[in-house]
Amino acid sequence: MREIAGSPRVLLRRLRELMAEALEPQERLDRIVREIAQNMVAEVCSLYVLRADGVLELYATEGLNPGAVHLAQLQLGQGLVGTIASSARPLNLQDARKHPAFTYLPETGEEIYSSFLGVPVLRAGRTLGVLVVQNKTHRHYGDDEVEALETTAMVLAEMIASGDLQRLTPPGMELDLSRPVSMNGVPFNEGVGLGHVVLHEPRIVVTNLFNEDVDDELRRLEHSLGSLRLSIDDMLSRRDVAIEGEHRAVLEAYRMFAYDRGWVRRLEEAVRNGLTAEAAVEKVQSDMRARMMHMTDPYLRERMNDFDDLAFRLLRQLMGHGPEALGASLPKDAIIVARSMGAAELLDYPRDALRGLVLEEGAVTSHVVIVARAMGIPVAGQVKGAVSMAENGDAIIVDGDEGTVHLRPQSDVEAAYAEKVRFRARRQELYRELRSKPSVSKDGVQVDLLMNAGLAVDLPQLAECGAAGIGLYRTELQFMIAATFPRAEAQEVLYREVLDAADGKPVTFRTIDIGGDKVLPYFRGAEKEENPALGWRALRLTLDRPGLLRTQVRALLKAAGDTELRVMLPMVAEISEITQAREIIEREVRHLARFGHILPNSLKLGAMIEVPSLLFQLDEVMQAVDFVSVGSNDLFQFVMAADRGNALLADRFDPLSVPFLRVLKQIVDAGHAAATPVTLCGELAGRPISAMALIGLGFRSISMSAAAVGPVKAMLTELPVRDLQERFGQMLANGGAQNDVRAFLKTFAEEHGVPL
Ligand code: PEP
Ligand code: MG
Repeated sequence: MREIAGSPRVLLRRLRELMAEALEPQERLDRIVREIAQNMVAEVCSLYVLRADGVLELYATEGLNPGAVHLAQLQLGQGLVGTIASSARPLNLQDARKHPAFTYLPETGEEIYSSFLGVPVLRAGRTLGVLVVQNKTHRHYGDDEVEALETTAMVLAEMIASGDLQRLTPPGMELDLSRPVSMNGVPFNEGVGLGHVVLHEPRIVVTNLFNEDVDDELRRLEHSLGSLRLSIDDMLSRRDVAIEGEHRAVLEAYRMFAYDRGWVRRLEEAVRNGLTAEAAVEKVQSDMRARMMHMTDPYLRERMNDFDDLAFRLLRQLMGHGPEALGASLPKDAIIVARSMGAAELLDYPRDALRGLVLEEGAVTSHVVIVARAMGIPVAGQVKGAVSMAENGDAIIVDGDEGTVHLRPQSDVEAAYAEKVRFRARRQELYRELRSKPSVSKDGVQVDLLMNAGLAVDLPQLAECGAAGIGLYRTELQFMIAATFPRAEAQEVLYREVLDAADGKPVTFRTIDIGGDKVLPYFRGAEKEENPALGWRALRLTLDRPGLLRTQVRALLKAAGDTELRVMLPMVAEISEITQAREIIEREVRHLARFGHILPNSLKLGAMIEVPSLLFQLDEVMQAVDFVSVGSNDLFQFVMAADRGNALLADRFDPLSVPFLRVLKQIVDAGHAAATPVTLCGELAGRPISAMALIGLGFRSISMSAAAVGPVKAMLTELPVRDLQERFGQMLANGGAQNDVRAFLKTFAEEHGVPL
């Protein structure tokens, strides 16, 4: 392709030379704006840079009064320049003075210029400044000129991001890029982490901005687009995705975008202007993202995410990146920042280096959050904009208690959090000391504190937290993080690992509890259910697909060898389900015995009490099983008819209320009468105040997350159980005012010096 003087390619080449020269930053900027003005045949070219205080400061100009440099300032949203910065869109005007946003800055002498073209300086969707050209005549800038100026702005964005301009900033004043930012999200897992940003999908830094030969570069782009399309077609035709589902819908959307003419045209245009294919992808993406940031339509924002993913894949293709090698470059205090991620991806990071996780999306029940909780990492979720605001290596604090994130925190914020971390560490130390102490109350009543688990990463915590065993092993988690159904051997290996780690302490394995919100992407379940929580899930599903249950039971039996095996059934609604499951288990026992396998020396079958129907047949249930465990998460949602995952209802009803506590008391009493052991393994067991209530009701065994064992034990060792039980019993019997329960418990704790 022939090069025309004044073409964007020539300009980019000149800029490349200027970037390479050993120049002072101001000198470099001055020459850059001069070069742009000349190339675009404009009388003025000015660069405004966004400062941390939201002010756009004139950093360099050709044509305006040079004395105004570093003095002329506009607020975000003020004047034409401020409007461009806040909308992240170019403004192309034949007569700037007629625009309603026009503000006259006397110090610049710009009143004599009519036509105006300004573009945002963008990087990764963030606005870092504004680049403007102006002419005296009523000139109309063509689309190609807008495109050329945007491309040029990209070079300036890299200059700003590289910190080159920081030296031109007055002391005490920061550029927007290094501004401290606090973001609010949702608390997903408690704890506080201080560390440094690791972008999960590292922003591929495109350093090679300018192409050598347009035709070659267009061919490279076309080739990569071709491979990208092929890889998506390939994914779509694979058997596991050929099944229905969301996964397929996402890929279909990708395919549509990969063939999107508008997108491809914009990429080609940027290459024709002199960018490398990768720089073109980065530019087009950054423009789109900046514009979409201002959109509120959730559908369009979601589509933007698809485009983002696609651009990322394309960049990887172009730059020959495999999946990033983890570990080598990871800081010792990594805080992972991601839009979203799979559970298995989190497990790829070395645990020792992880201090926290920030997600732009997700829910408390997301798989990755379940894993993070198991690993004891603080998590803040739904932190919008976190990825584009953060740079690798930035200082960052995650407050998983509040759901907030502080990026590049000021020193006082950092000091306050460092104190919070020290305080938590001192408490942890206290809990560690309690670990080997007996699990008895102040007045000598034994209460077993068990731990909930579900992944291999949970296991070391059993010894660390000092739990008496695993009261709930959620076997479905292995299924949820896998890409296909875990084979019988893989199940057996995991169960054996669990039993080895338990080292003789009891472990209760719950049979797979899938369905509802626990979806397996590779399992073709029911058609979309209207009420998944009440749907085809857990035991109902495994009784209908007995092959699943048989395989799992066989793996459990083999893993247990000649030790004790405890199996628990989720979501039991009627006794006949227990009978059916028992038959399946017994058939497996007979099968293995026939083939000479060693069998468990004791096999205990339990039922979870999560469905209210069991409350009306408690005596029969207690007879039908060897033990029961209350799944208070589900039981509460069904008793109150309040979806456990619905944020709008999260604080509406309190489980520590008279009716629900009476339900729980009935269960303990029925267990006691039948001499059937009763445990509770929902979240209620994990907070000291609710654990105290449970013990006051008569529970002598509760199962919780590993992190909760210490605080609950600290409460238990100071608790006069008999006294509480008597007074609490009276209170519940009298009915009390509905919301007095918490107040009663708090007062009791205060009076008796019980730490809550
Ligand atoms: C419960 O429902 O309380 C329970 C422990 O099971 P899950 O949270 O896995 O549904
Ligand atoms: Mg449940």
